[in-house]
Amino acid sequence: MSRFMDKKYASLEEYVPGEQPKDMQYIKLNTNESPFPPSPKVLEAINSEEINKLELYPDPVCTGLTKRLAETYGVKPENVFIGNGSDEVLNFSFMAFCEDGAAFADITYGFYQVFADLYNIDAKVIPLRADFSIGVEDYLNLNRCIFIANPNAPTGLILPLDCIRKIIESNKDHVVIIDEAYIDFGGESCVQLVNEYDNLLVVQTYSKSRSLAGGRLGYAIGNAELIADLTKIKFSTNPYNINRLTLAAGEASLNDAEYYRNNCRKIIENRRYTTTELVKLGFEVLASCSNFVFARTDRMEGGELYLKLKAKGILVRHFDKERIKDYLRITIGTKEQMTALINTLETIFKEENR
Ligand SMILES: *Cc1c(COP(=O)(O)O)cnc(C)c1O
Repeated sequence: MSRFMDKKYASLEEYVPGEQPKDMQYIKLNTNESPFPPSPKVLEAINSEEINKLELYPDPVCTGLTKRLAETYGVKPENVFIGNGSDEVLNFSFMAFCEDGAAFADITYGFYQVFADLYNIDAKVIPLRADFSIGVEDYLNLNRCIFIANPNAPTGLILPLDCIRKIIESNKDHVVIIDEAYIDFGGESCVQLVNEYDNLLVVQTYSKSRSLAGGRLGYAIGNAELIADLTKIKFSTNPYNINRLTLAAGEASLNDAEYYRNNCRKIIENRRYTTTELVKLGFEVLASCSNFVFARTDRMEGGELYLKLKAKGILVRHFDKERIKDYLRITIGTKEQMTALINTLETIFKEENR
């Protein structure tokens, strides 16, 4: 930190994204990206005509994409907010709705704590149960803004809709934010509840199921007043938050829903295969509704196994954190990638006599 930076940031611990090493070609199973490219319709949309318009600012209210997302989810355009990745939507939500503090699980998306620290928001960190499920009773009448990743990361576990309803209904004076980054890989979305509750905000992303992590596109669906609040924050920070090419890609993606549904089906199939094979190798695997599995084994400690896999060209995610040190979070890729993972694990255990 330079002597010029505001001292209030001295103790800020920034978010650490999954590593993207360039020293060799890895099988990348560490950041939950899609192993599939965007739809051909996306490539068509980002054509030279659109590139030729890059001297002009993009539409600051994202008219076209907002309309198409609203149609897709059966809501009105005023119920949709578009962000530069869902990280930006979450960022704005922490800025907008956390005057009375925030609450989230001890084991969940790491960015929630970072945003809380950044804005000096009082955060109530609620431990997951021993089996990593969310205890609904811990989320009733909290009197603060609540963030729940559903399915949760890195566990992959889903909280059913009736539980979420209870949480929303018992926190009527605060916003409940359901981060559905992985909802397309299993589980029931809360989007259908936004017309019922004015304190529910559902956040989704193009980064996982829609193969657009590099395009940076996310959105929120909720009551029109909540959306207007987020819009106010956006126009006070970065009005042109979504670039032209990403706007075009986002719309084109919605015109090829079948392509993405099919990719999700493949991921779910490969998740089933990976889970079965990991269990055969002596792993415990949590019941995942997402595009990753969270697994541990008595045969080798998590940090060691992570390093051995990396040395053999396979990247997975290991969190050096209480309660989950022993686990690996493994993104579900193509069948070939997952077969390579299983074979490499077998080799490692053989070489190490475990
Ligand atoms: C990946 C992820 C995000 C961030 O997604 P972007 O749209 O790429 O910013 C948000 N929440 C959770 C739980 C995620 O796993």
